[in-house]
Amino acid sequence: MSSVKSVNKHHPQVVIIGAGPGGLTLARLLSQQGMSCKVFEAEASPQSRVQGGMLDIHQATGQEALKRAGLHQAFLDKVHAGGQAARIVDSDGKVLFAEEDDGSEVRPEIKRGDLRQLLLDALPTDTVQWGYKVEVVSRLENNRHRVTFGNGDSVECELLVGADGAWSKVRKLLSDASPAYSGTMFIESFLLNCEQAHAQTTVCVGSGALYALQPFKGITAHREPGNVLHGYIAIKKPLDWLEDKADDQPQLQAALLAEFDGWAEPLTAFIQHNDLPLVVRPIYALPDNHQWQHQAGITLLGDAAHLMVPSGEGVNLAMQDAMLLATAIRQHPQALDEALRQYESDMFVRNQVAYQDAEEIFRLCYGESAPHGLLAFFTQS
Ligand SMILES: Cc1cc2nc3c(=O)[nH]c(=O)nc-3n(C[C@H](O)[C@H](O)[C@H](O)COP(=O)(O)OP(=O)(O)OC[C@H]3O[C@@H](n4cnc5c(N)ncnc54)[C@H](O)[C@@H]3O)c2cc1C
Repeated sequence: MSSVKSVNKHHPQVVIIGAGPGGLTLARLLSQQGMSCKVFEAEASPQSRVQGGMLDIHQATGQEALKRAGLHQAFLDKVHAGGQAARIVDSDGKVLFAEEDDGSEVRPEIKRGDLRQLLLDALPTDTVQWGYKVEVVSRLENNRHRVTFGNGDSVECELLVGADGAWSKVRKLLSDASPAYSGTMFIESFLLNCEQAHAQTTVCVGSGALYALQPFKGITAHREPGNVLHGYIAIKKPLDWLEDKADDQPQLQAALLAEFDGWAEPLTAFIQHNDLPLVVRPIYALPDNHQWQHQAGITLLGDAAHLMVPSGEGVNLAMQDAMLLATAIRQHPQALDEALRQYESDMFVRNQVAYQDAEEIFRLCYGESAPHGLLAFFTQS
């Protein structure tokens, strides 16, 4: 690991915390604009955690950011053919709605790990410092900030950007808000070697996304490259439901099977025949329209700024933030503070709509109207 002393020697103007899609997009765009920036990431390396999940990247937001970053063609080369297909089934597995991938570029799907690697490959060497977990952020004179990491190193900068996700440490300097549990949890499941080992489920899911929903519960899944099915079992339960199950796979499995009793075997395979341990992901969100009083020299983007319930937009919103922050900085070359003010006030307006949309999609998927609300959404849009 390169030492932060060597980082400080280069006096990065901009320090970005978090090498997620938002932080890396910003680093790429600012580097293109000739600014020196460093990204500090808690994970030990790009390979230290499975970057699971398919992400659909939308035209006006995520794809537009990739265009500005000069990476759109490289992105298209990595999209998962067939991944835009979607189907809704009932708990028997009967297809209620199906849409094939028409090959358009409206919302092509890419693996999260492939998107991260695409952005990493486009950065100057050593832009990302791995294994740097932020412990403390403090304000200095002249609108500068110091970030101290768990390994004892620290760095100072002119602009600090918190792209450090849901539990952002940078956010603490700007806002007292903290994410609250939404009432719904996802349990992540992988079926490997799916065409051979889980043939019925593979047919049921198809080439893209599957939604099997009933009020307050559901199983959603994606076909992924590499002969993999990736599922999320969703249930509305209080957090204490997990008490005796979170660390006990057989008990968790049994409780989920009881919840989904009577559902077709190709669907419950995600609970019963998972090839990797089930991972519980309670869904948290920041308060609606989360905002903060502007402070010079520091800002947030992506989930750190506006963690919402998942609706297929989170990555796109993070990349859009990065694009618009980089644009504001380019438009105010001698007035960084003006750039931050513009970026933040525009984002707060955008987020009012984004929060409403996310909650609406989440409600259609996991609320009392499931699956009919989502069915109407697909057939009318
Ligand atoms: C179950 C689930 C499914 C989802 N599915 C989708 C989907 O299909 N499509 C979609 O668009 N969105 C989806 N989302 C939302 C999406 O994952 C996020 O909105 C998106 O990743 C936000 O990007 P980001 O760059 O802001 O933050 P993140 O992707 O969270 O990246 C933050 C980075 O900061 C690092 N970090 C955190 N703390 C520290 C620290 N103290 N010091 C240093 N580094 C730190 C993290 O390791 C991470 O690499 C889903 C979310 C969940 C929970």
